[in-house]
Amino acid sequence: MNILLIGSGGREHALAWALRKSPRLGRLYAAPGNPGIGALAELVRLDPFDHDAVITFCRHNMIDFVVVGPEAPLVAGLADALERAGIRVFGPSQEAARLEGSKGYTKDLCAEADIPTAAYQRFTEAAPARDYATRMGAPIVVKADGIAAGKGVVVAETLEEAHAAIEACFDGAFGSAGAEVVVEECLIGEEASFFAVCDGVHAVPLATAQDHKRVGDGDTGPNTGGMGAYSPAPVMTEAMIERTMAEIIRPTMKAMAARGAPFKGVLFAGLMITAKGPELIEYNVRFGDPECQVLMMRLESDLLDLLLAAAEGKLDGVETRWRPEAALTVVMAAKGYPGDYAKGTPIAGIEAADALPDTKVFQAGTALAEGRLVANGGRVLNVTALGATVAEAQKRAYQAVDTIDWPDGFSRRDIGWRAV
Ligand code: AMP
Repeated sequence: MNILLIGSGGREHALAWALRKSPRLGRLYAAPGNPGIGALAELVRLDPFDHDAVITFCRHNMIDFVVVGPEAPLVAGLADALERAGIRVFGPSQEAARLEGSKGYTKDLCAEADIPTAAYQRFTEAAPARDYATRMGAPIVVKADGIAAGKGVVVAETLEEAHAAIEACFDGAFGSAGAEVVVEECLIGEEASFFAVCDGVHAVPLATAQDHKRVGDGDTGPNTGGMGAYSPAPVMTEAMIERTMAEIIRPTMKAMAARGAPFKGVLFAGLMITAKGPELIEYNVRFGDPECQVLMMRLESDLLDLLLAAAEGKLDGVETRWRPEAALTVVMAAKGYPGDYAKGTPIAGIEAADALPDTKVFQAGTALAEGRLVANGGRVLNVTALGATVAEAQKRAYQAVDTIDWPDGFSRRDIGWRAV
């Protein structure tokens, strides 16, 4: 089976690495990929937003299955275009991708299907949004409706902060993503990420994982795309997984099907485990990055079989198998990230890190310059290890981090601290 993988991050490197293990895999292509993925797949230059170009490539290269990593091409309708062309694809339709593309869409779905989530209202003007925030009182959460590169959410401790966030959204701080605003209750509890692979009707839960969003040790400093992750996440007990499936994931699948937009792909629920139980903070319609890296490290059953069953509507009765060990990944980022940082700085020592036991370095923002590996983005390497416990996985991952010679990079030193 020939596969085209869309994306270029550490998530896609991990997916390529797991797909490679499938005995059913024929040729693997990645567009655009990165140097790490290039060791596992043939890299192709293709614009995922040019649907005709992707379809033509698939036809010329006898692609049987397309796996889409990031959300943006899904929100732009790539899965619909491929299905119309008769090409199997893993990832939701444009309509189903609105679960990530519009926070208001998801909140309305929750209201309709009685899914536990923060109380909210949607607004297209500042004055009523301010009034609602004032009535609810601080702390209160203000969200740009659309995708704002992870920056469109303000958890406001005071009403002044909330009012300023509302003004900023309507003043265009997030472009068209902020043309509509959701104001919602602030939930109190521990956060957890939950992933289920879905085929439009059935949903199969994956192993649990937790990421670290803040740039600094002790979960301090500005938000980032994610500085590390570990699996399993102790907060997600068996009972909590069962409740999340029963109260959040399955009702979502049912409601989406009823809307004529059955969800196929990975449903990634950001949860708050409150005193009442799991509540939905938000949905994403793809694997988390870097959570995917720890999940792929632990996945024992065949990833290709799983993704294909989801695409074909055949997930009923499918089960996944996971290694009993814990996995942990440390993101190495360019100094200055998430602010300004330099590109093109040289990186060495990845082979030595990869040679350590149960260790794998997934590449994210890397490039080759005159045959040498250099940094080419903010989050650059995902140094990932297995261990009997999270503590052992953490120790191994940091041993590998210390093997890598990249003076212009940095990482947090406490990934997994909650579980350790
Ligand atoms: P999101 O982009 O929706 O994941 O939001 C970013 C972060 O804001 C989440 O990971 C939470 O830490 C926080 N957050 C979002 N919504 C709420 C809420 N209703 N209550 C408390 N924290 C929230």
